[in-house]
Amino acid sequence: MLQSILSVLLILTLETQDRVVEGLEHRAYDYTKYHTMDEISEWMNMMIKDHPDVVTSIIYGNTYEKRNITLLKIGLSSTEKKKMIWMDCGIHAREWIAPAFCQHFVKEILGSYKTNPKISEMLKHLDLYITPVLNMDGYIYSWKDNTTRLWRKTRSPGTDNCTCFGTDLNRNFYANWGMVGISRDCCSEIYNGPSPLSEPEAKSVTDFLSDNRDNILCFLTIHSYGQLILLPYGHPNITAPNEDELMKVGLAAAEAIKAVHGMDYTVGTPPKVLYPNSGSSRDFARLIGIPFSFTFELRDKGQHGFKLPEDQIQPTCEEAYQGALSIITYVHDKTFVRAAATSIAATLWSVCLALWLSSTI
Ligand SMILES: [Zn+2]
Repeated sequence: MLQSILSVLLILTLETQDRVVEGLEHRAYDYTKYHTMDEISEWMNMMIKDHPDVVTSIIYGNTYEKRNITLLKIGLSSTEKKKMIWMDCGIHAREWIAPAFCQHFVKEILGSYKTNPKISEMLKHLDLYITPVLNMDGYIYSWKDNTTRLWRKTRSPGTDNCTCFGTDLNRNFYANWGMVGISRDCCSEIYNGPSPLSEPEAKSVTDFLSDNRDNILCFLTIHSYGQLILLPYGHPNITAPNEDELMKVGLAAAEAIKAVHGMDYTVGTPPKVLYPNSGSSRDFARLIGIPFSFTFELRDKGQHGFKLPEDQIQPTCEEAYQGALSIITYVHDKTFVRAAATSIAATLWSVCLALWLSSTI
């Protein structure tokens, strides 16, 4: 009797402890604040530890200052070959809302896949590859003090006696490199680097995408600000073969965003809705055959710009989450749901044909 009372007490104690630990971890990470690189790295470890069956990490390169660039891979195990979705945040250091979004996105996916059958279905077909902070050196520098808060570029030193630091990573990819919307002045914010892929961060992403080009269905890269969804290409004279479909999917995402807090996002190619540019990761992804490739420019439209107040983190992330989910759902359904429907139709057709043939012979 005493033994059974003791074991009940033990179970109760353990359950209470579990809840306390869970609660502490939940409280410990505040998604409505901006976080330092150290905090984000710790958060990544926490995600892996808390969801070992769904989250793993992959180091796929390094920064100029020799930091490991790490992504979180999120997906449910499957016996069939899975497709991939790419998302990166923080390619530009000062756009702090971007890494905050990647963290929010991961939290939402992990918090909903057990109860939301659609998310669970998608995680059985797709693995999400999410880099919360790509330009880690620049991000850390932007946290240093008030004078560095608006740092945008990498932290590699200039070449040819130029004393300025940094290359614009989003002008450094091998996609019409150096053609438009760039500067050859190494002190410029849009300096495209001494050569394509001069920056190890751009090279790391390029290698990962190139190795997996046949399996990646969708490439999403998150920036701020401007409230835009940008499609390939940045060069005004080049058109993506599926531009109409990209536009349709982008507009649906903007609608999903608007439904959350009423914010307007504009959709289009950079020359049409922002300014022409070249050497971006979005354009590179589309050029190598990844069918769906988008840049998100999150809030706002310039009132606070890169210094978006912390009280806007949550609403910005909530709406952008629905936008990203709308794109991922479209891409998933196009590949898996419609493909399955087509194959059922094809099977039915061959059965009918066989019946007809057997009845006529
Ligand atoms: Zn940016």
